[in-house]
Amino acid sequence: MLLTITTTHNPATDLGYLLHKNPSRIQTFPQTFGAAHVFYPESNPEKCTAALLLDVDTIGLVRGKRGENRTLEHYVNDRSFVASSFLSVAIGQIYRSAMTGKSESHAALAQTAIPLEARVFSLPCRGGEDFLRNLFEPLGYEVRAENQLLDEQFPEWGASDYFNVTLRAEKRLSELLTHLYVLIPVLDNEKHYWVGDEEVEKLLRRGEGWLGSHPMREIITRRYLKHRSSLAREALTRLMQDEIAELATEKPETSEETLEKPLSLNEQRYAAVIAALKSVAAKRILDVGCGEGKLLRRLLDERSFTEIAGMDVSHRALEIAAERLRLERLPDMQRERIKLLHGSLTYRDARLAGFDAACVIEVIEHLDAARLTAFERVLFEFARPKTIILTTPNFEYNAKFETLPQGKFRHADHRFEWTRAEFEFWAEQTAAKFGYQVQFSTV
Ligand code: SAH
Repeated sequence: MLLTITTTHNPATDLGYLLHKNPSRIQTFPQTFGAAHVFYPESNPEKCTAALLLDVDTIGLVRGKRGENRTLEHYVNDRSFVASSFLSVAIGQIYRSAMTGKSESHAALAQTAIPLEARVFSLPCRGGEDFLRNLFEPLGYEVRAENQLLDEQFPEWGASDYFNVTLRAEKRLSELLTHLYVLIPVLDNEKHYWVGDEEVEKLLRRGEGWLGSHPMREIITRRYLKHRSSLAREALTRLMQDEIAELATEKPETSEETLEKPLSLNEQRYAAVIAALKSVAAKRILDVGCGEGKLLRRLLDERSFTEIAGMDVSHRALEIAAERLRLERLPDMQRERIKLLHGSLTYRDARLAGFDAACVIEVIEHLDAARLTAFERVLFEFARPKTIILTTPNFEYNAKFETLPQGKFRHADHRFEWTRAEFEFWAEQTAAKFGYQVQFSTV
């Protein structure tokens, strides 16, 4: 079982300080399941790699078990050879200070995003490569996965569930270690230790700041807690409460919002949208890709909008929207003004027809370029509201965000960000194609 972590931050040898492990020595740490070794296959100012190698004593593990529970599977299994929960346990012990972001000598660096590459060898991915990608890509990792054959001698047996995985990102070392710590057992989906109540606390602590907004948070929670449904329910409720409490205080929770916060761009954007809706005297409003309902809540405050519908592909976002709008507790008159619809903007949907105006606020950049044509037809041809108000980030404006590296998008899920010229080109073409007139304004 092998995990390597590489940085090209200069001087790369600082990795030794961050991990609290001296690059010039091989160190061995006895574990309940065998031994863990830390060593550096390369260490120079340009590039430094730390390797964590686990030597699992399968026989030793079985010896500890009560006789009647022993089965052949206890002896013959993949545990010694794959990156399983044992690796996660070892990260939590051997790299503990690094995982919690502590460093006395290099405190500032521990809090700084640096270029990192992690390689995990023979990682069992129950759910396949897609599942692996769905776990790590929303967190901003570039993922490479090399599948291993079940048996090199019998290629006709096909692929196995095991991958050599490379993850690359600019992150704090503590973030990378935390993500690995939580997600390796989720991928493995095997139990090897008893999951008790304290695991809920551990998950919530380690998941702070990222798990609540992860699109796969439900399955991550269920698998991490080994499908103990009562624990998973508790964890999800608490994750959700934290999130709702955050929403209630309007604390920005996504990196995109944090980035934009100093300029209060989001507020300005909603105000501009509402002004535009009023300028065309729209009454029946559709908000597609409504997300967590921030615009919907503002629309609800305006009496002139008599009918409001929000639509999104994410169940989870709609749940949060329902909470935010306090749908359950609205007086009947208000309750009748608004509805939430689950659906995708890339499929024709009769429920979207008959509105005065549709808002598409910061949504199209989340669609694959190939799906954009489908979206155009769904909205402009079939739903066909009189007015469409559509916003998308201006790529040229990104230079104003001091914390955003040049050339990067504002959000990991953005498939593209256009310059003003690119946006105008698309909008003019689309308007012409479907018989709309188009106007541009900036926020
Ligand atoms: N309009 C909201 C949310 C923007 S985030 C706001 O301004 O706050 C983008 C939203 O688009 C997300 O909620 C995402 O779930 C949704 N989305 C992405 N692809 C979609 C699709 N194909 N159909 C419907 N909604 C989609």
